[in-house]
Amino acid sequence: MSLVVQKFGGTSVADSEKILAAARKAVRAHQHGHQVVMVVSAMGKNTDTLISLAAEINEKPPAREMDMLLSTGEQVSVALMAMAIDSLGYKGVSLTGAQIGIKTDSSHTKARIHSISTDRMKALLDEGNIVIAAGFQGIDDQFNITTLGRGGSDTTAVALAAVLGADQCEIYTDVDGIYTTDPRVLPEACLVPRVCYDEMLELASLGAGVMHSRSIEFGKKFNVPIHVRSSLSDGPGSLIVDDADTAGMVVSGAALTRDEAMVSVMDVPDVPGTILKIFKPIADRKITVDMIVQNVSDDDTTSISFTVPRGEAAEAVSVIKDVVAELGGTLAPVNENVSKVSAVGLGMAHEAGVANRMFRVLADAGINLEIITTSEIKISVLVDRTNALDALRTIHGEFSLDKIEAQPNEVRPSETAKRDVSALDVIERLQVIGMEALTIDDIVLDNTQARITICKIPNRPGLAASLFEQIADKGVFVDMIVQSFNNEQIADITFTVKREQLQDAVAVAEEASKEYGCEKIDFRERISKLSVSGIGMRSHTGVAMGSFEALAEAGINVEMISTSEVRVNVVVDGDDGARGLECLQTRFAEELES
Ligand code: ASP
Ligand code: MG
Repeated sequence: MSLVVQKFGGTSVADSEKILAAARKAVRAHQHGHQVVMVVSAMGKNTDTLISLAAEINEKPPAREMDMLLSTGEQVSVALMAMAIDSLGYKGVSLTGAQIGIKTDSSHTKARIHSISTDRMKALLDEGNIVIAAGFQGIDDQFNITTLGRGGSDTTAVALAAVLGADQCEIYTDVDGIYTTDPRVLPEACLVPRVCYDEMLELASLGAGVMHSRSIEFGKKFNVPIHVRSSLSDGPGSLIVDDADTAGMVVSGAALTRDEAMVSVMDVPDVPGTILKIFKPIADRKITVDMIVQNVSDDDTTSISFTVPRGEAAEAVSVIKDVVAELGGTLAPVNENVSKVSAVGLGMAHEAGVANRMFRVLADAGINLEIITTSEIKISVLVDRTNALDALRTIHGEFSLDKIEAQPNEVRPSETAKRDVSALDVIERLQVIGMEALTIDDIVLDNTQARITICKIPNRPGLAASLFEQIADKGVFVDMIVQSFNNEQIADITFTVKREQLQDAVAVAEEASKEYGCEKIDFRERISKLSVSGIGMRSHTGVAMGSFEALAEAGINVEMISTSEVRVNVVVDGDDGARGLECLQTRFAEELES
């Protein structure tokens, strides 16, 4: 018999009428012959109200008591939902996290799910009940009530779908689905019919606030198709599915992160450990570092720029000031007037020229790119904040994201069938080490690439665009691209290509560098690209830091970095690749095995 999990967010259960409407949806699925598990959030803004109430009594309420308090919101909802089901003449049973047996760790207010028992839910379903589960909550080893963090009901829902082997998890919410970009920012944004888990993780990290990120990590790990749809209308919604099942749009979404700041550390020694020394104190403060670019050193020094949320720039600078001084470098003035604009799409991994198109339209719009980073499925550029909205609209239009037509949208039978084979043994294994534990699925060494750097290229609109167009014209496929900041007038651009295409790329770079009056070009025939990819890298930060640490300990210098939600890439000298691979494998042995 098929099983669906239906999750209803706060706005979808905000009052008695909405609760009844949600109950009718569940009953309809039940009538169609599905077993139904509902997961519900606290009514409306109830969680916010409880948080304010706590703050009136205690500025710093103990986290354990916070969880005790907040879990009541969902308890109210499940009880009322069960009454609603009963009023419609069907059998419904409400269960708290503890009653289900959702075991978590003890980190109150941000607990991670360790294991879930299915016995009780299965028995109730088999007796013909609709099971109504409280979202967002669990219980630790000592029977303390825990919560999963704001928005955590999504994670409960996808986790229950995973362990129950549900055909799909439907997320009913107050928006129509996932949009190509935030429709409040760009009214022409369209609904995306299908995105894959990785794209969704990238988009979520860029502020597409529809889903709790950890729920997407669950979806990916256990291959649960997730259908995000409105509880108010019968629209097609958006499906979050496995890569193979997306329609293969080149770009599926674009995003703007408005308030960024760029920190630049100039002239620090280009030796193993420098990167670690700079980023460790920042990571220890839990400041999220985003775009990291490093230019290839002229002499024995290198410069590194990175972005942090604007509000955290001052703190980031203050914690690295001493380190930078010790290293003999300097800090450039922080640029607080920058925004990040990104395009995300699985199609980029296979289709050349996506970066070129993006650089070209931005150049034609007269927008200068301060720094550039690329990963397999994301290209991000940093622009002046005054240009940010323009840049977003330009990119969004270039990839026709404003022209997607709504279409019927259902999980395909092949997508549900696939779960039965692949996911269930994973679940059994993961219930032992913890369902939300970090898993590294791959550590790869790519020894086929070469690197080229154009040093001191004028920092003005259009140069990246024309450079990469000329390179594409030669049929050279570019993998990583990094444009780093040198000073207001000057940038450096580094990129990697297949080794056999190095000479062609160098020829173009030489031409271009003459034309632009650049200082010189620099290239290295043998580089090694090391990539660590996994699931849970968003919620378990530290994979980047762990990689830097492992490489520093082995005395291996990091030459280029690009990070995304699912992967950390570092480029090291070609002679260090094999050793680098080994030390990363050792470092992540535990996560790799599982
Ligand atoms: N009620 C919780 C919150 O508001 C959990 C959720 O809605 O997902 O964050
Ligand atoms: Mg919510």
